[in-house]
Amino acid sequence: MRAGFPEFRLGSVLATSFTATLTERCGDSVERIPTPQRLVDWLAVSGLAVDSCTAAQLDLARELRESIHAAATAAAVQEPLPVSAIQVINDRSVDGRAAAVLTSEGKREWRLGSARVEDALGVIAADAVSIIAGERDGRLALCASPTCRAAFFDTSQSRTRKWCDMNTCGNRQKKARFNAKQREKSG
Ligand SMILES: [Zn+2]
Repeated sequence: MRAGFPEFRLGSVLATSFTATLTERCGDSVERIPTPQRLVDWLAVSGLAVDSCTAAQLDLARELRESIHAAATAAAVQEPLPVSAIQVINDRSVDGRAAAVLTSEGKREWRLGSARVEDALGVIAADAVSIIAGERDGRLALCASPTCRAAFFDTSQSRTRKWCDMNTCGNRQKKARFNAKQREKSG
C-alpha cells in the first residue's frame, strides 16, 4: 500500500470490486483511485497489470466504473438499465483485448493484449456484463447502509446478504445498533 492514499476494498467479484473504488457514494464519498498510479496499483492487485496510465485513461476507467454502478443498481432494483451506461460498458468491452489462460495450478488468469488500461477495462466490462445479464450464480443487491448503497453481488447460499462489505458497512451498522441499545439502557 502506498502511504497517504485510501486503501482498496477488494471483493471476490471483479466488476463490483471495481465499483468499490469509490465508496460512500451517498455520504462523504471516498475516491480510492485518486491518481493514475493508484489505478495501476488497483489493476495490479486485481490480476490485470498494465504498463502505465494517463489522466485520460483514468477518466475512462472512472466513466466505466460509474456506468457499471448505474447499470448494476438498476438491475438490483429491477428497473430498466440506463442506455448511456450500457453504451459505455459495451464500448469498453469491445475496445479491450484480453485472453483467458489457465495456469499450471488450473486457475484462470487474464493475459492482456498489450498491457494497456483499455485491455484491463475490457475484462472488467465483460465481468459486469456477465453479472448484470444474470449469467452467474448470485444476485445483485444494494448495500443497506444509507450512506453507501453500493451494488454488490450476493453469492451467499440464502441470498440475504445486506451489506456490500461485512468489515466496513456491516460492522458500522452493528455498532450503531449496539450504541442505540446502550443509550436505551442508560436513558
Ligand atoms: Zn456498503
